Amino acid sequence: PISLHNVTRHYRQGGTEVPALVDVTLDVRAGESVAVVGPSGSGKSTLLHVIGAMDRPDTGTVVVGGTRVEQLSRRAAAAFRRGVGFVFQHYHLLPQLSALDNVVVPLMPIHVTFDRHERAHELLDAVGLGAKHAAWVGDLSGGEQQRVAIARALVARPRLLLADEPTGALDSRTGDEVLDLLAQIQADYGMTMVLATHEAAVAAQCSRVVSLRDGAVVADHALWDPQPEETLRRATGLG
Ligand code: ATP
Ligand code: MG
Repeated sequence: PISLHNVTRHYRQGGTEVPALVDVTLDVRAGESVAVVGPSGSGKSTLLHVIGAMDRPDTGTVVVGGTRVEQLSRRAAAAFRRGVGFVFQHYHLLPQLSALDNVVVPLMPIHVTFDRHERAHELLDAVGLGAKHAAWVGDLSGGEQQRVAIARALVARPRLLLADEPTGALDSRTGDEVLDLLAQIQADYGMTMVLATHEAAVAAQCSRVVSLRDGAVVADHALWDPQPEETLRRATGLG
């Protein structure tokens, strides 16, 4: 679960302070998939960065899976980020490496009890790219590169997946395919997902939509319930 309380973040641009997040309070349950929508500059990326310990708020608290993220040292933040999967608009792959090697990269600095290459193959199969494991990612199409990026984001089995405009660089059909894949994997692996997007169709795949404007949450709607049993249990006091 994720819990943000009164989170504010300003950036200095020239001589002025630009608000990127303003007094954001937000709770996300484990297993939820939340779309963050809003116009350009409304703070979507900043929100993801703050949750993923890539940026620090000026004030407020950020708790992710019991960790006070905004208080982490540089070193502890780096360790925390290893447990989070990130997917970006422009893939951020290493073009001089093969698809397989790109997927293996996040596993290199961590101690594992399984075969790293076997796991990477498994993830490439899951995103439908098993046959292209040896290809240089620079030779792959945009949609294929984003699949590699998704495999890489998931290879360490993160409990949390952060996706920033994951279909933003793709044509709509390829974007739909990548999105279906993300939604399917999110459901299969049961991880929490927070996804920033401009597109209503992308948001509609999520269980909840949070709207930002000028850094503030202006709407928060459930679309469907990812954990109906738990909600029922809580609502009825049964079980
Ligand atoms: P987009 O849809 O264009 O990606 P966004 O909703 O992701 O926009 P953010 O990138 O979070 O918006 O930016 C929020 C505000 O913070 C904007 O006014 C932006 O100019 C400012 N900002 C973001 N990052 C920085 C930075 N590193 N330095 C200075 N200002 C920044
Ligand atoms: Mg952004």
